[in-house]
Amino acid sequence: MRIGVPKEIKDQERRVGLTPDAVRRLRERGHEILIQAGAGEGAGFKDIDYKAAGAKLVVTAEAAWDADLIIKVKEPLPTEYGYLRRGQLLFTYLHLAANRELTVTLMQSGVTAIAYEAVEETQNGQRHFPLLTPMSKIAGRLAVQFGARFLESPQGGRGVLLAGIPGVAPGRVLVLGAGVVGTEAVRMAVGLGARVTVLDINVERLYYLETLFGDRVEYLYSTPELITYLVPLSDLVIGAVLVPGQRPPCLVPEAAVSDMPLGAVIVDVTVDQGGCVETIRPTTHSRPVYSACGVLHCGVPNLPAAVPRTATQALTNSTWPYILCLADHGDRAFEFSPALAKGLVVKQHHLVHPDVRVVFPDL
Ligand code: NAD
Repeated sequence: MRIGVPKEIKDQERRVGLTPDAVRRLRERGHEILIQAGAGEGAGFKDIDYKAAGAKLVVTAEAAWDADLIIKVKEPLPTEYGYLRRGQLLFTYLHLAANRELTVTLMQSGVTAIAYEAVEETQNGQRHFPLLTPMSKIAGRLAVQFGARFLESPQGGRGVLLAGIPGVAPGRVLVLGAGVVGTEAVRMAVGLGARVTVLDINVERLYYLETLFGDRVEYLYSTPELITYLVPLSDLVIGAVLVPGQRPPCLVPEAAVSDMPLGAVIVDVTVDQGGCVETIRPTTHSRPVYSACGVLHCGVPNLPAAVPRTATQALTNSTWPYILCLADHGDRAFEFSPALAKGLVVKQHHLVHPDVRVVFPDL
């Protein structure tokens, strides 16, 4: 199959759809790969690496899009709409529920679109989204790195070293939510030597985290009263809750933020869904924090973009089995992979994903 990898054009997006290693493995199976020159640059992969792996370098986006299967990271932007064509397979993050214009464009184009975020496996009877997990893991780990950095005085923080040293107490970290993001945040905070408390309303998750971190963490059932008590005692609060299909609950009221020490830090990872802290608003990688109630707030909705090299490798590790299935079987891939079939959002001019159809019942 002829596979195209265009350079991402969304602002600050430095990831790329395929690593040179994935290109090499696809070439070994007889597929032809077109890479737009410079596509891997932001993630530290040079054109020469792709060439050595057997890709054909093309100069224009138009040439990279001239393929049967397009592998991307972010959704097509309006300047790319003209490249979509009937019968083409498109595999990328799409988040269509938030984008009616793109949904209509995909339907009109005749493309077959599979959304990374909708690819769904079943694990122990539970729904599992394997192409969301790697980015949540990265975001959870980065949340603590960001928090530790903003606690430093030159960044405006209260000058606390999370690790402490013998004779000086370590910093206190409160993690709200013990899902994928929360678990990774706890892992990093424990690794640094901080005093860590994690809250969840799902006790099974708390039991699970205890098997990972033992008595180095306090595992508590989340209630509004407990949050109001613990937030003012914390140097760093990390928001990591999710209620599927809903905006996150507002767990941290402004009054609790006001009671935090001056220069304490909040990293609300849930900001991409609206945030779980009353005083949070979205920020960017160029201006990641602002101060409110004397507390530094970090609300970057796309944290993994800070580490495009790691994020690209993590993404390709997870997309790889599905890419291989699409490359080897084309339109018949959905018969071989039920998980991939669940990720189908648009096919033959029809909107086929049940969740997106609920959002746009008229399409
Ligand atoms: P997840 O479903 O794995 O975990 C969410 C956890 O929150 C669950 O364990 C759930 O029981 C818990 N929860 C729900 N209500 C709660 C409450 N009232 N108190 C305490 N815990 C509660 O989800 P995840 O993959 O960890 O994602 C968490 C959030 O991070 C989501 O909002 C997601 O969109 C966001 N996210 C942001 C970025 C970013 O770059 N900013 C990247 C990835 C994910």
